[in-house]
Amino acid sequence: MKDESRLIFVPRNKSEVKEFKISRLKLFTFSFLFLISFTFVGKLGLDLFIDFSQNSKIKTLERTNAVLEDRLIEAKAKIDSISQQILVIVKKDDELRTVLGMSQLSSDIREVGIGGSDYAYNFEDEVSGFEDNVGLGKQLNELSKLEREVKLELESYTELMKTFQKKQDSLKHLPSLKPVLEGYLSSTFGMRMHPIQGVRKHHEGMDFSAPRGTPVYASADGVIKFTGVAGGYGRMVRIDHKYGYETRYGHLNKYVVRTGEKVKRGQKIGEVGNTGISTAPHLHYEVRYEGKPLDPRLYYFDDQILNTMVVNK
Ligand SMILES: [Zn+2]
Repeated sequence: MKDESRLIFVPRNKSEVKEFKISRLKLFTFSFLFLISFTFVGKLGLDLFIDFSQNSKIKTLERTNAVLEDRLIEAKAKIDSISQQILVIVKKDDELRTVLGMSQLSSDIREVGIGGSDYAYNFEDEVSGFEDNVGLGKQLNELSKLEREVKLELESYTELMKTFQKKQDSLKHLPSLKPVLEGYLSSTFGMRMHPIQGVRKHHEGMDFSAPRGTPVYASADGVIKFTGVAGGYGRMVRIDHKYGYETRYGHLNKYVVRTGEKVKRGQKIGEVGNTGISTAPHLHYEVRYEGKPLDPRLYYFDDQILNTMVVNK
């Protein structure tokens, strides 16, 4: 009886109690086998579960990877397209600089602006599996390069705009209008026999013969520097055109502007007269640069239609 155990089943309704007799050795053997099987099945189940969950993670990652690679390919296409457009902008920048008489940005400046190893992303190894040409590192490097090219162009355009505005302003102030629409050229710039003094003298301007009262126009934008009688010039108006230019209008019958007044090209400043050293009504017109008289013909358009358009604008 000693090596014998008893298994007793007591049903809930207590109608019948079942009793089994079993030896201890058998009980031990059964228990051991049961434990082994349970552990084995359990381990198998756990492994299967881990495998399944890992596989599902890998599949999710693979899908994510594929989507990311697609997006990288799209990003690369966009970056390539922007690079092409920036090349066009660089070409236009060069053209504008040529038109405005500015030197083009040298390749050195462009390289300094866009080079530099500190911007070199290098984690190709971290993102293996992607095709080389869509590497994330390469794309980020390309983006840094584009960012700096755009910055350089923005700076360049500010410079271009400033130069353009200055040019435009200086052109407005360049004495390019013939100061009288009527009348004929009676004496040119240079050495000539003086009509009254009878000696060879340098004529520092041009004379336009015209009837007294013929309107005289400012040949460019500027500020009236002087109005009054000035020796042989008679009644004279002087206009300061900035950028070193000045024009003088002599022998006027009268002037219609005041010193300090701003005038526009084509604005009437006075009328032809015969004041000062003059034998007949005419306009003596001078263009001076840094005080030195220059041949006015080098500056104005000798085109009646063009001059009329400017005066009547
Ligand atoms: Zn003269």
